[in-house]
Amino acid sequence: DVTATKGNEFEDYFLKRELLMGIYEKGFERPSPIQEESIPIALTGCDILARAKNGTGKTAAFCIPALEKIEQDHNVIQGMILVPTRELALQTSQVCKELGKHLKIQVMVTTGGTSLKDDIMRLYQPVHLLVGTPGRILDLANKGICDLDFCSMLIMDEADKLLSPEFQPSIEQLIQFLPANRQILMFSATFPVTVKDFKDRYLPKPYIINLMDELTLKGITQYYAFVEERQKVHCLNALFSKLQINQSIIFCNSVNRVELLAKKITELGYSCFYIHAKMLQDHRNRVFHDFRNGACRNLVCTGMLLISLPEELTFKLLMLSSILIFQRTLKHIFTGLTVGLFQVGRSGRYGHLGLAVNLITYEDRFNLYDDLPILKLLLYRIEQELGTEIKQIPPQIDQAIY
Ligand code: ADP
Ligand code: MG
Repeated sequence: DVTATKGNEFEDYFLKRELLMGIYEKGFERPSPIQEESIPIALTGCDILARAKNGTGKTAAFCIPALEKIEQDHNVIQGMILVPTRELALQTSQVCKELGKHLKIQVMVTTGGTSLKDDIMRLYQPVHLLVGTPGRILDLANKGICDLDFCSMLIMDEADKLLSPEFQPSIEQLIQFLPANRQILMFSATFPVTVKDFKDRYLPKPYIINLMDELTLKGITQYYAFVEERQKVHCLNALFSKLQINQSIIFCNSVNRVELLAKKITELGYSCFYIHAKMLQDHRNRVFHDFRNGACRNLVCTGMLLISLPEELTFKLLMLSSILIFQRTLKHIFTGLTVGLFQVGRSGRYGHLGLAVNLITYEDRFNLYDDLPILKLLLYRIEQELGTEIKQIPPQIDQAIY
């Protein structure tokens, strides 16, 4: 996706001549959109939070400013690129080496699962740029083997994966080793809540770059309704009879609930399929396929559905449904669903209208958020996350909005 650029040239960034040569020799003629956005800002020293689809050239978007900013005569570690896997570390360091072919910048790869002794030996020689996984680098820093006093650039690639419980504590400890004038660049294709929380703590005022398509959920009006647990099915029935619904997807948070609710909906006289995590993937795909082709009006599933389906299918699912009912969404949103929703967002600019009704029981209110202000706060956070407002459901809903 190297189209739709601003028409900038790599020359416009006043890069070192040797770096420019490396860029052209790698076959890059012009910066891609994410590179156009990131390179000049990164060169100013600003923190960046950048989101762009896979395959859009994020690697060079951070490698180029890193290589530009490193002073090759200063033999200390000046930058660190963190990635979640060894393979990615090798690939990324390869890109740095190629782009920096004509520079005298020493790039070192270090990841878990390799000899620590080799790393120690390697660090006796000059290293300007470290590329690796957080655990190993932290290990080296803790042992006093790698000096990060001058490492003023921290780059996190695939930040969503780096902020998993596996890596996040190491990253937070690593940050303590960095100098006060550190710059953090975060790149990712998805921004789950973990990324947002991390950003709030470590990059309070980053330059935000978002090259993702509009979140599909934008066209979906969100409502919430308080219901009693035992009134839920009744409430669904009321919604079904009141609204002109083409197809609906109903999210529940347990496998048992999925099966039970599907049964109840069928008993009410509405056709209903269900999908949950305990079904084999093949089976799930088949049910989903049939649903998509209109074999059935309603689908009950767990939030995992959005995450487990291929991206292309997921958005089609949203395209089709004129109502989305998230049951106990609040809980989901803060566990897995956000990821799913953002993945849906990835899929596109399909301006599709729909309706989501979040059913919140008094039990949810009581168990999860013991009073209304906290609930409001959570709703507010979800609103921020989804970029939509969630209002209490009105007595009448205009059909034009869904
Ligand atoms: P991402 O990390 O966003 O998934 P990559 O950095 O892996 O994307 O880049 C995807 C591909 O695009 C790579 O093969 C890379 O060499 C190529 N690429 C990156 N930037 C450019 C550019 N400016 N011009 C041409 N190809 C590019
Ligand atoms: Mg990448």
